[in-house]
This record gives sequence, C-alpha cells and structure tokens, in this order.
Amino acid sequence: MREEFLFMEVEQARQEILASIETLEPEEVPLLEALGRTLAEDVLAGENIPPFDNSAMDGYAVRAADVADAGPDQPVVLAVQADLPAGTAPAEPLRPGAAIRIMTGAPMPPGADAVVPFEQTDEGTTGARRATGEVRIMRAVRPGDNVRRAGEDVRRGELVIQRGTLLRPPEIGLLASLARPRVRVTRRPRVAVLATGDELVDIDQPLAPGKIRNSNSYSNYAQVLKYGGIPLLLPIARDTVAEVTDRIEQGIAQGADLFLTSGGVSVGDYDLVKRVLHQLGHIDFWQVRMQPGKPMAFGHLRGVPLLGLPGNPVSAMVVFEQFARPAILKMQGRRQLRKPEIEATLLDDAKSYADRVRFLRAIVTQDITGQWTARLTGPQGSGILSSMVRANGLAIIPKQPGKVSAGTRVWVQMLDWPEVE
Ligand code: AMP
Ligand code: MG
Repeated sequence: MREEFLFMEVEQARQEILASIETLEPEEVPLLEALGRTLAEDVLAGENIPPFDNSAMDGYAVRAADVADAGPDQPVVLAVQADLPAGTAPAEPLRPGAAIRIMTGAPMPPGADAVVPFEQTDEGTTGARRATGEVRIMRAVRPGDNVRRAGEDVRRGELVIQRGTLLRPPEIGLLASLARPRVRVTRRPRVAVLATGDELVDIDQPLAPGKIRNSNSYSNYAQVLKYGGIPLLLPIARDTVAEVTDRIEQGIAQGADLFLTSGGVSVGDYDLVKRVLHQLGHIDFWQVRMQPGKPMAFGHLRGVPLLGLPGNPVSAMVVFEQFARPAILKMQGRRQLRKPEIEATLLDDAKSYADRVRFLRAIVTQDITGQWTARLTGPQGSGILSSMVRANGLAIIPKQPGKVSAGTRVWVQMLDWPEVE
C-alpha cells in the first residue's frame, strides 16, 4: 500500500469530515414549504395553546360542588341555562344550580369548573336535546374533569421547537397553532454529483463493448435529495486530468457547497485524481477500515469540501450513508446526525475481517415475539446493487478474524429511519 494513504477508523473519518463542514445560512420560507427542512431558530410560544380553558367533551358545564352527590340512582337535576357551541364566547357566568350545555372546544363559562359528558346525563348518547329545560346528572365530577386548561399544551414564552429540528408534519401543525406563516430554516446545500470512469455510459446512450451504465450518479443524486440537499448532476468525466478538472470547475461555477465524486480513488486510479485534486486544492486519500468502501478521498477544492466516494455502486452508497449523509445534514444545521442502530439476531453466518468493520446489507424484521432479526439480502459483493435494493439496514459485523455465526446479536444501522442523537 502506498504510504500516502491515511488509515482511519470509521468514526474517526466521520469526525474528521464533520469538523470541516460548516452549517449554511438561514432563509425564510412559507410554512407549507417547510416540511423536511431544518429549523434555523429557536421557536418560543407567543401565546398559550389552548388560548383559554375549554371543554374536552360534549356535555354540561357545571360547578362540581353542585353535583357532588349525583349517582345513577340519585340524579341531580339542574336547569339548563344556555347552549354554548365551539367558537362562541360565553355570554354570562354559570348560575348556581344550573348547567350550560357545552360542545367540545367551547370556552368554559365563568363559574363552571367541570364538564359532565352527555353519556353521564339523561341525554345519554343520543345527543338529542331534551325539551324540558332541565338535565339530570347521573355521576359526580371533580373540579377540572373534562376541562382543557389554557396553556396545557404550550405555555406562552416556552421554547417549543429547538433550532436544528427536522420539520415533520407535527412541527408544521404546532407552528401553525403558534400563528407562524413563515419560518426560518437553513438553506439546502447544493451538492455536485460527479461520476468518473472511461467505462461509464449514461442511461440514455447505447452500451458499447466493455462499457457499463453509470448508476452512481443516480443513486447518489437520490441520496442527496433524500437527505435534503439540492443535487447538481454533472456529466460523466472520462479518466483524464482535463475532463475531471473541467467538471469540477463546472460544479463550482454552479455554486456547489459540497462535491461528491465517485470512482477514481482506488489505487489504480490514484495518480490521475491526485494530480487533478492537487491542482485545485488539498485532498487526502484515506483507507477507512470498513467494507465495503475502503478507499475514499476528502479535502477542499477552491474552498468547497469534496468527498471522493469509491466507484463500486454499493460502496458508493454505503460510504455516502456513513459520511456524505451526516455532512449534508450538518450543512442544514441538523442536531441529529446519526442513523439509529438496533440490536437484532443475525440469521445467517457472516464472514468477518480482523482489520475492517463490515456493513452488510440486511432486511430487518420483527418476529411475532417482538424480537428483531436481520437476514442478509444476498451476495455482498461491492458491485451487487440488487442486494442493496432488498435491504432496509446495514448489519454491522465487528472486526474479528473468521466469521460471526448465525444467531449472534449484532447492531444494525436502520437506513430508512430518521436520525437520532
Ligand atoms: P473505481 O473506483 O473507479 O476503480 O471503480 C470501481 C468499480 O466501480 C469499477 O468496476 C467501476 O466500473 C465501477 N464504477 C465506477 N463508477 C461507476 C458508476 N458511476 N456507476 C456504476 N459503476 C461504477
Ligand atoms: Mg474508475
């Protein structure tokens, strides 16, 4: 092995990359366009949610003390003073010995401290208003029963959503209830995607002898999108200094915040890419102690970080997941960068290496007892993309000589679960 290669553990490589990635600047977007974006501000509640005490049930607003003795065999009879639908303000306070018919969400009338649901009155479950002007309460309630307190969800001044949070549908809903038509999110990084290799043919061109399809540009493009980046697809670069340089200049001119190349970082291609990259900036070639995906490169070209992914289609995707994904998330200011790992029983034997962690494509399922299991999805060659298609996780096979036997509990990185930590 050439001495220019730096040997690194996976975690060390991740830290090294993340240490040189900066979070991008914030921008303001309409709330309905904020799904999947990362919040760039701490959101403090400007108002209470709910804004006033209100009924949690359809029923009768009462004074709990008035119905303290009520029971199925000794109903308490109250005069029905008024009807209070949701969306109206109570016109008058509750009179002693009376009840106000109230709908879910209607404000509690002054003087009332509990709600008796219809089901516990002689109105029953029909919801039909009786004509007598009276209601018979069949059950006692305590003060506060079936009442939603002002501010019980969110209190004015409270920090409700922290900067760095991924905006999902519940966050969008909460921001709406706080009357935020626009929110500050971090700008999405523009990520240039460049495939290199004389053997590559694009998907709209005929295949010629000795040529293969360029798939990395497409899987990497999709991965960039999946994690919130804006992909910039560059045309394939042949293995010449001129073409690789030209493509990189093109990506930089298009405003790339991050560069992803695939191919050309293995020992055979090393000199070409090294020459290009050393002209434009500083690059280190790494041998990360992982499989698939050992060779990679990282550096800065004209100030733009560049991650050189290996060429093999699975390696390119797995290395993307370990290093490009957290970098893209950090650029968006995301607090949570790590894919969740769950412990599962490995259902197949897996060859292991003394000096490299393996990330094996696996399908993780839960059996009827609730136990997680991980079955390898087939041949694990670095070029076999079909076994990546069937996988929903990467089983982490620790460094050890020999193998890990079926039945062993292993950690599995869940590729389609949202980040934690
Ligand atoms: P390299 O790292 O350039 O030596 O490439 C390693 C292997 O990955 C070779 O078999 C390449 O043909 C293959 N490969 C490289 N780039 C791509 C690509 N964009 N799409 C599909 N396969 C690729
Ligand atoms: Mg190549």
